[in-house]
Amino acid sequence: MEKEELKANQDAMERRGKKKPSPKKNKLTLVPLYCKGCGLCVDICPTGTLQLYDDPKNKFGTSVKIDAPDFCIGCKMCELQCPDFAIFVNYEEEKKEGGK
Ligand code: SF4
Ligand code: SF4
Repeated sequence: MEKEELKANQDAMERRGKKKPSPKKNKLTLVPLYCKGCGLCVDICPTGTLQLYDDPKNKFGTSVKIDAPDFCIGCKMCELQCPDFAIFVNYEEEKKEGGK
């Protein structure tokens, strides 16, 4: 990974270190085919739930992973920030409720 990507991961881990697991469980869904590993979601996540990793299967060489799902508070910042519609929050649950 590049220096900026390592820094994004490190900053996310620092944010996570200041949080507790979320009392409500949230379901994150990644669409690996769409993810270009840009790290915008990692940067914006207030709880440090996400991390970047080297991924030879991704044509850009990096992907995002849900590193600490228990810390996700369901704020949807990642979903809103992702330019490629590669991450969704509580998608199935909201679909059932008619929200999507
Ligand atoms: S999920 Fe979206 S915002 Fe996050 S790294 Fe992948 S493309 Fe970027
Ligand atoms: S919904 Fe919020 S807390 Fe959960 S991964 Fe996305 S940005 Fe982080």
